[in-house]
Amino acid sequence: MAHPVYFYNTLTRQTELFQPLEEGRARIYCCGPTVYNYAHIGNLRTYIFEDLLHRVLEDAGYRVDHVVNVTDVGHLTSDGDEGEDKMIKSARERGMTVWDIAEFFTRAFFRDWEALGLKNPGVVCKATEHIQDMIALIQKLEQKGFTYQAGGNVYFDTSRFTDYGKLALLDRQKADAQGRVDSDPNKRHPRDFVLWFTQSKFSDQAMTWDSPWGRGYPGWHIECSAMSSKYLGERFDIHCGGVDHIPVHHTNEIAQSEAAFGHPWVHYWLHGEFLVLQKEKMSKSSGDFLTLSVLTSKGYHPMDYRYFVLNAHYRTQLVFSYEALDAAKNGRMNLIERLAAMKTSTPSAATLFFESSVDDEDEVVRQIRSDLYNDLNAPKALGTLWTMVKDTAIPADRKLRVLGWVDRLLGLGLEHAFREESAPEEVESLARQRLEARKLKNWSAADELRRQIESRGWSVEDIPDGYRLRKKV
Ligand code: AMP
Ligand code: ZN
Repeated sequence: MAHPVYFYNTLTRQTELFQPLEEGRARIYCCGPTVYNYAHIGNLRTYIFEDLLHRVLEDAGYRVDHVVNVTDVGHLTSDGDEGEDKMIKSARERGMTVWDIAEFFTRAFFRDWEALGLKNPGVVCKATEHIQDMIALIQKLEQKGFTYQAGGNVYFDTSRFTDYGKLALLDRQKADAQGRVDSDPNKRHPRDFVLWFTQSKFSDQAMTWDSPWGRGYPGWHIECSAMSSKYLGERFDIHCGGVDHIPVHHTNEIAQSEAAFGHPWVHYWLHGEFLVLQKEKMSKSSGDFLTLSVLTSKGYHPMDYRYFVLNAHYRTQLVFSYEALDAAKNGRMNLIERLAAMKTSTPSAATLFFESSVDDEDEVVRQIRSDLYNDLNAPKALGTLWTMVKDTAIPADRKLRVLGWVDRLLGLGLEHAFREESAPEEVESLARQRLEARKLKNWSAADELRRQIESRGWSVEDIPDGYRLRKKV
């Protein structure tokens, strides 16, 4: 029997007990990256939240079916149907084909995924490999009278779907009345959206497929409905994404899926709040954004970022700053150092950390579970962990067991405490030279030496009167 877990459901605006469709199984679909650029650290925050969801459900006793899609066609620069095709724009700017752009940034995305210790989702599906599934779903909608053709494109008629906008609590009349200045004149209602484009605005559209409506390509929203139902069924438990997806993308996914299947579709909708830079939204299309490699080039470990993210609840906005990232890095390092100290003072420390299961009745374990099972309150769980770590009355062997369990549950990379090895002399020498350069305030030389150290697989951290080298993992 799985433990009871509670989530805040955007659909009902309430925290609810998770009741899966099938006992002991949780089926999750998460909107994945649009691969026209590197993922920024805001996008990565959302995937960390979804990974936490996956891990917590497993800890609670569920078998998790987790699907992530890759949007490699059809996502325009606005979430609606206005704007340019993101892939074409990027291909033009970089002088590459759209296919190469997609391949390149998909690989880059999954490198970040691994570096952050995100679990293998099980299914990763590319939109371009599921065009026939999308066509079949559009045909189903067409047979049921939810579509119309205009100007060569196929549109979803939102007026035919009475529940339209229930996720975003949209006021239909207001939304329709507002209209949009740049709205497509073919649309019967401002909120209608394209299911299949044949009349591309872009003469250089390279990704096109034959369809019953002519050669063209799918709209963005239909991708997720087609792929999620293919892998998880026409009803599944949880759908996730960032909060930006509530008013358009997820609203449209619900409309077309429930219209096609004829019944309620997804039970729980979980949305991660944004990571912001000084009150600004971080946007991938603005060209000015932070990536994980920017952070690692400054000497942060990817897990420092993960720890920073987990220190905020997924439903609160998180403001990024290097000061806050430094605090997270120090917190994580402090845990690693305490573990390293216990390693030398406690017999069988590694066995306790890596192999011992925790006692379900342990008060700390119960508290951390209650934090996490209550809408994924990771910051509270970390607070509970820290209280235990600092409690001198708790013996080291109990701490080691709990820390090992939390490390596997939250994926913090604390196990590095057991994997430290000394740096080769070449790297030590570079670090000493860098220390000298810093003393002379020769920052450009110090930066160059840091790059050389990192290219050899080590990271260097400044500590009072010295440095510390760590092997990158
Ligand atoms: P995209 O690649 O733009 O389709 O976005 C991938 C995921 O990142 C989606 O779930 C978005 O909702 C989410 N996202 C976009 N920007 C941010 C941000 N600044 N903070 C957190 N999540 C974001
Ligand atoms: Zn989606």
